[in-house]
Amino acid sequence: MTDFAATRRAFHLPQGITYLDGNSLGPMPVAAHDRVARMMADEWSEMLITGWNKAGWYVQPRKVGDRIARLIGAGPGQVVMGDTLSIKVFQALSAALALRPGRRVILSDSGNFPSDLYVAQGLAHSLGAELRVVAPEAVKAAITDDLAVLMLTEVDYRTGRRHDMDALTARAHDAGALALWDLAHSAGAVDVDLTAADADFAVGCTYKYLNGGPGAPAFIWTHPRHADAAQPILQGWMGHDAPFAFDPDYRPAAGVERMRVGTPPVIALAALDAALDVWDDVSLADLRARSIVLTQAFIAGVEASCPDVTLNSPRDPALRGSQVSFCHPQGYAVMQALIAAGIVGDFRAPDVLRFGFAPLYNDLDDVERAVDGLARILRDGNWNDERFHQRAAVT
Ligand SMILES: *Cc1c(COP(=O)(O)O)cnc(C)c1O
Repeated sequence: MTDFAATRRAFHLPQGITYLDGNSLGPMPVAAHDRVARMMADEWSEMLITGWNKAGWYVQPRKVGDRIARLIGAGPGQVVMGDTLSIKVFQALSAALALRPGRRVILSDSGNFPSDLYVAQGLAHSLGAELRVVAPEAVKAAITDDLAVLMLTEVDYRTGRRHDMDALTARAHDAGALALWDLAHSAGAVDVDLTAADADFAVGCTYKYLNGGPGAPAFIWTHPRHADAAQPILQGWMGHDAPFAFDPDYRPAAGVERMRVGTPPVIALAALDAALDVWDDVSLADLRARSIVLTQAFIAGVEASCPDVTLNSPRDPALRGSQVSFCHPQGYAVMQALIAAGIVGDFRAPDVLRFGFAPLYNDLDDVERAVDGLARILRDGNWNDERFHQRAAVT
């Protein structure tokens, strides 16, 4: 059994805060603080340029990728780190399109995160392809024989709705298309198994449930059947077969390493590598079971004590990731009042109160405090206070 009391202790959770926003930015693992300090003191300061070899900075994107691989059902050598998730979406989508040369249609859903849709729109525009966006429930029926790529985010960032990755991937393959999965709200939150699903490409970020810190690098996975055929499109020198030959002509590296672009963010990778230590003794089955316990308890508690909100997430845990959202017409002000009371979730327009439950450090006490806090604020109406209606730049 995974020791979740021990994993909780691995994080710095500020006094007086109940943190339910790890689906946006995970808290700081204590080890990450020390690791970055050590990296600065022993590696950057003392080794200078030799750190690329001596401290292994150059191979870090692949080594850290191997640690992520276990959490998403991928094999060693199949995942590489770097850049932002938006860039990895671009790379995976453009590579997938190039593997289906006779076809030009990308299918996604309206619950997908805007950045993924923007990247797809830009690519469709520049390549003369077509992006079709349908409602999440309509995806299966919209997989037609002209499709090149099915591009979905497994867990919806607003509702927590979880797509059936196995069934939709199989359906895409039957139609002759490839399946690209964004795991931004899945990796570290649910039991992902890309190999079992037989997906083609996957991407994700590491600052949410993987707690790599603000701006932590993204990951990309290519199924081994495509790894040596996929064209990176965004061809950078670090994805070259021999970067230090400084050959003027591009020749892709073997396997997923061709998806590297430029110089890796070494300091951020050190923080992420330390954050991944926490996962070494975590079973994904235990993680999933605990996520269901926490989200079920939260839904039951809120529905029993907050008549003014409506559930905006699937009730069936099999259809849900590790977050729960509720709608309230004054959602923004209600969330600001909650945050002022030390219960940190977030708000998504137009009226969504969003709560992420990270099984690694959230527990049933957090659930109880959040339910009590929300019930009190809605009962007292203190969200009406003027100061809770002022909008910040980042929400
Ligand atoms: C969080 C998130 C992003 C953010 O992309 P960045 O490039 O890391 O800013 C993109 N897509 C999805 C599905 C997300 O949840």
